[in-house]
Amino acid sequence: MHAEIVVVGTELLLGQIIDTNGAYLAQQLASIGIDLYYKSTVGDNRGRMIETLKRAVDRSDIIITTGGIGPTLDDLTRETVADVLGVELELHPNLLEQIKGMMGSRYTENNARQAHIPAGALPLENPVGTAPGYFAPTPRGGVGVSLPGVPGELRYLVEHTVIPHLTDRFQIEAMIVSRTLKCLGLSESYIDEQLDDLIKSSNNPTIGLLAQMQLGEIHVRLTAKAANANAANELIDPLEQQVRSRLGKAVFGTDEVEYEQAVADLLKQHHCTIAVAESGLSGGVGHQLSNALAGDPHFAAAVTAHLPAALEHLLGVPEALINQYGTVSSEVAVAMARGVRQRNGTDLGLAITGAERLNDSDETGAFIALAHGDSAVTESEYRRVSSMRFARQRIGRASLQLVYE
Ligand code: ATP
Ligand code: MG
Repeated sequence: MHAEIVVVGTELLLGQIIDTNGAYLAQQLASIGIDLYYKSTVGDNRGRMIETLKRAVDRSDIIITTGGIGPTLDDLTRETVADVLGVELELHPNLLEQIKGMMGSRYTENNARQAHIPAGALPLENPVGTAPGYFAPTPRGGVGVSLPGVPGELRYLVEHTVIPHLTDRFQIEAMIVSRTLKCLGLSESYIDEQLDDLIKSSNNPTIGLLAQMQLGEIHVRLTAKAANANAANELIDPLEQQVRSRLGKAVFGTDEVEYEQAVADLLKQHHCTIAVAESGLSGGVGHQLSNALAGDPHFAAAVTAHLPAALEHLLGVPEALINQYGTVSSEVAVAMARGVRQRNGTDLGLAITGAERLNDSDETGAFIALAHGDSAVTESEYRRVSSMRFARQRIGRASLQLVYE
């Protein structure tokens, strides 16, 4: 048993509005375990609507249309559905009364069109708008469901009437469960290559990759369908193990886990204390880590210092070093990392020194250093300033990555 969505409206084909109804319907169907095989978009055109609906009725058990059930002449869903099902449109006097009540003095003769639905169909009262939907039986023993285009009305009817009706009628007990494994530090194509055979051979659960550019993360989503959540999770568990064994520690967490939290957990697990020093940027990394480690003894301090005198006073970075190399340099990053570590007596010292417009260029750049014992590792990270927030986020990520690794 499978479903098909037909989205109606020329404005969608013109790209004037984005089809959020289709996405919403797809999610709702998935949540009750109904497979969606097709989604078509068709303009307000009689011939093409009939062609699209006919194909849908021939190949699918549940056909859901959205849009085209308003009062105007370009709203053709009722007529074309009746045509395809081989029935007439039938007036429902009680629907007409409701529409009149809803419209009051705004009622026009056009509105009577909305009280006509295909013969044999069950009306879906719409208390949040004027366009009633309906369930219509199809010749193949399935059901056609017509819903309004207005998103608020559609959602109301889906939630209150359509989902309960479908679960009842098709005795659906299946459940869809997804688990997301979050990765940092590997490219999407590399992950794709590593998981290639699993992606191709897995059918339940399935594997999907999703790149999260802002965060520099790749999400691997495992989705299983089973009679209940436990059974679905049992299907996902072994696949998760396989994926983890191939991607190693690039997988930093599942579902709701944020990278900052994963870094914080790792510090706790290794009984490792840390202090953070930042210069030039907005102090975001110390803030993120201290949030993730709120009140935890593993987090000692977040120091933000911008001017040379402050860097010397708060972190012990010699002014001479700053004069020689400039504040945004790997030498100063290392001195900051060592300084913040020594002054706070922590295992690790993390430092970021950057500028939002490095030397008046269009780049945001930063040097990052991590001090550990007497040694220090450094890294530099440059981003074009076209998106400052993005640049800051990436720099923050890169510095946390140094700790994580
Ligand atoms: P009515 O005419 O009574 O408002 P209708 O069923 O005829 O309802 P449409 O005229 O097709 O609906 O669409 C009404 C409005 O709903 C559109 O102008 C648009 O803003 C929104 N809409 C329609 N279809 C979609 C869709 N697929 N995704 C998001 N919004 C939509
Ligand atoms: Mg309309």
